Amino acid sequence: MFALHIPTAMFCVGLLLVVLGLLFQGGWKAGELYAPSRNWAPAAILYGLGFILISFRNEAPLFLSVVMANVMVVAGVCLLHRGITVHVGVRPADPCYWAAVALVLAGFSWLSLVQPSVKTRVVLLSALVVPFLVHAMLLMRRGPASFSGRLLTISLGIASAWFVVRGIMIASGPEIAENAVNSGGISALNLFFSSVPAVMMVALQYRLEAERVRAALEEDAGRLRRERDRLEEVVAERTEELSRSNAELEQFAYVASHDLRQPLRVVSGYITLLERRLKDVLDTDGREQVAFIVDGVRRMDAMIVGLLEYSRIGRDALKGQAVPLEAALADALANLEATVGMSGGTVEVQPGLPSVWGDRVELMRLFQNLIANAVKYVEPGVTPHIRVEWRDDGAEWQILVCDNGIGIPPEAAERVFGLFQRLVSRNQYEGSGIGLAVCRKIVERHGGSIAVEPDRDGGSVFLIRLPKTMPATA
Ligand code: ADP
Repeated sequence: MFALHIPTAMFCVGLLLVVLGLLFQGGWKAGELYAPSRNWAPAAILYGLGFILISFRNEAPLFLSVVMANVMVVAGVCLLHRGITVHVGVRPADPCYWAAVALVLAGFSWLSLVQPSVKTRVVLLSALVVPFLVHAMLLMRRGPASFSGRLLTISLGIASAWFVVRGIMIASGPEIAENAVNSGGISALNLFFSSVPAVMMVALQYRLEAERVRAALEEDAGRLRRERDRLEEVVAERTEELSRSNAELEQFAYVASHDLRQPLRVVSGYITLLERRLKDVLDTDGREQVAFIVDGVRRMDAMIVGLLEYSRIGRDALKGQAVPLEAALADALANLEATVGMSGGTVEVQPGLPSVWGDRVELMRLFQNLIANAVKYVEPGVTPHIRVEWRDDGAEWQILVCDNGIGIPPEAAERVFGLFQRLVSRNQYEGSGIGLAVCRKIVERHGGSIAVEPDRDGGSVFLIRLPKTMPATA
């Protein structure tokens, strides 16, 4: 038959608490996130050591086994209460609480040491637990936020209540209580009521911490979600603002260039008339000056036409379809037949050009502008040689237009794609500085990018990247 040997049981529970307390100690030293309220670990250790010393009650010196044991148990209980106080969010610096703790501690030590009558000692010791009971009930009323916290305060309340009941039972002195003290039954209940909350404290500690960490993580996640939503709103607002102002700007450029052509046509018409009428009257200088005016007007008209073309691209949404680049290139070459033929140049095309999603006319214009430039920007006396190649780069197609022309210095590689940007004088090469800006706009509308770099053998390589799938913005 199993018989409970109180000192052994006390020793075992004490040892368990010390070990768990030491585990906690490691826990709260390891990192702030998992650090429990700093009272839990020392509380478990003190409480456990107290139990161990009590189990040696009759074998160790009196001071050690009684005074030290009680001091440790009470200090452990105090820390435990303080830990719960911190957990439920009550300020622990309550002077009344500390006064009660001091009183209980002094009373415990004094009574344990000097009071010879077991019965009186037990009654008085039990009475001293009343402040803890009151405190546990107060904490219960404050309502700790979590289930674990509530369970802990309830178990502490029950344990404290047991010690009070025990005192009352023994003081009122019924025979049954007397027998219970003598038979060790009361000691067994003491052990039960003090060890259960202590072990529970240790077990619940992990739950409390997990709850605390989860709550903190949820709060962080909520904050991040709110922040992300706010950012998304701002981005959406800005994007809308930007596309509105872009559309306005394009509309403005379109209207302005469209309307500007009208008076220019008048100027051009009348200057031609004047030139004809004054042909015989004007001297050589006069005729040269009129020729300058005619040339200026013509160039201005070309620029306006370019601007109109530029602003027209992007006015409407892209009407995309699968376009075989071979077909778009063939259209461009057909348009440039005379230009290329007159220069004596050749265009070499790598077979198997892929199909992309886009607008055939715009893709044709892209090739047309690049090839026309490649034919135009060569040193005098050099026969243009143009190669159109392609590569498969995983998610994108790379299209390369290479020439043997005058080249573009790397420092100007970005500038040439700007509006009206030219690297050469008009006397050397005709042009309005719009062609490459149009190319970039077309490529970007197709979800791609365009860049230029020097070719290894002189000349330039225009590298176009186009997505294999339909761009999300289309
Ligand atoms: P345009 O040809 O009407 O001047 P572009 O926008 O097509 O306008 O070109 C801008 C400038 O980039 C040109 O003035 C020229 O200096 C340079 N450029 C364009 N293509 C080439 C090329 N293939 N080789 C060398 N320079 C070029």
